[in-house]
Amino acid sequence: MSAILTGVDDRLITYFNLSKPIFEEKHPDYKVIISQGVRTKEQQLALYKKGRKKGDDGKYYITDKKKVVTYTMKSKHLDGKAIDIAFIKDKKCDWSTDLFKDFWMILNKVDVLKSITWGGNWRRFKDYPHFQVD
Ligand SMILES: [Zn+2]
Repeated sequence: MSAILTGVDDRLITYFNLSKPIFEEKHPDYKVIISQGVRTKEQQLALYKKGRKKGDDGKYYITDKKKVVTYTMKSKHLDGKAIDIAFIKDKKCDWSTDLFKDFWMILNKVDVLKSITWGGNWRRFKDYPHFQVD
């Protein structure tokens, strides 16, 4: 097992391992990888700081909404309940929304892991590469 999967919930690993070969067969030019598994508090804080500045009260306030990548310091990544995926083509990541939607639809077809939540379905903040469990 690769190091990136250490501490990641089994349901997410099963989900990924089921969907990956189906996706790659449909899109032979692409490889699907897990780009992020468990995240430390320090890593989460570094992400949380993006698009924010620390106020005099010690709290972080949004100063550039376009740069914001997360709205929480309590990410599911901290306790292994989330993964982020990436699509590699010609050694580059492709962030096309359609690829993530397609990957998500494979789960719907496999229809085995209803416990998975996709960040692309969130209303407030779309997080297309993100999949999590409760
Ligand atoms: Zn994520």
